[in-house]
Amino acid sequence: MRKNIVAGNWKMNTTVAEGVALAKEVNEALAGFKANCDVIVCAPFTHLASIASVIDQNKLGLGAENCADHKSGAYTGEVSAAMVASTGATYVILGHSERRQYYGETAETLREKVALALANGLTPIFCIGEVLEERENGTYNDVVKGQIVDGLFNLSAEDFGKIILAYEPVWAIGTGKTATADQAEDMHAHIRAVIAEKYGKEVADNTSILYGGSCKPSNAAELFAKPDVDGGLIGGASLKCADFMGIVKAF
Ligand code: PEP
Repeated sequence: MRKNIVAGNWKMNTTVAEGVALAKEVNEALAGFKANCDVIVCAPFTHLASIASVIDQNKLGLGAENCADHKSGAYTGEVSAAMVASTGATYVILGHSERRQYYGETAETLREKVALALANGLTPIFCIGEVLEERENGTYNDVVKGQIVDGLFNLSAEDFGKIILAYEPVWAIGTGKTATADQAEDMHAHIRAVIAEKYGKEVADNTSILYGGSCKPSNAAELFAKPDVDGGLIGGASLKCADFMGIVKAF
């Protein structure tokens, strides 16, 4: 059965000391009670090994926010999936809209990244989502289908089963403008149907599909109550332990 998951995406925020302190705080908050979902924080590369040494990964999963599309070699400044895995992290966000928009990530590079992440035992949290223009001109279902088909449908059913999806409408990321719970549910059900068409109903039913975009303690419960919304990928609100835990407790 698919899991409910709340994952934080810290983006390019916090120093190592601040990130370690935040991870410790979340870890301690989780130690005291039984969350009804898996909880993950995705942090900058520089922070991962230090965070891995202070958290209990049975309670709090750890992920990177990206990895390279090459295995190793002369790619100055890049960080490979093997390097991420060597820190102790076990998840990696791939295809975030900020990386597609600012760093030119394409379906082709993402296919490489997904393959390398899986080969190194990392669980990809693969992001998809339309921009405002596509929401307004009504092409959003096709756009999101295209991102899934082009980025992931080269995978075997077994490998696809290892992927977590995050639907993040770009117009809702960091804007304070959340998709309504109905808009999220419509898209998540569409995504599940797209998966079922390719891999069958069982694989589709077992895929966790997270919602991302200005999710906060005040709107998380309504979003998570929808049958096809299996949790959230949380940007801004993951930077404060109380807000992040407020979202975790929405389950
Ligand atoms: C994100 O960038 O993944 C995200 C969901 O950001 P925010 O929650 O800040 O909109």
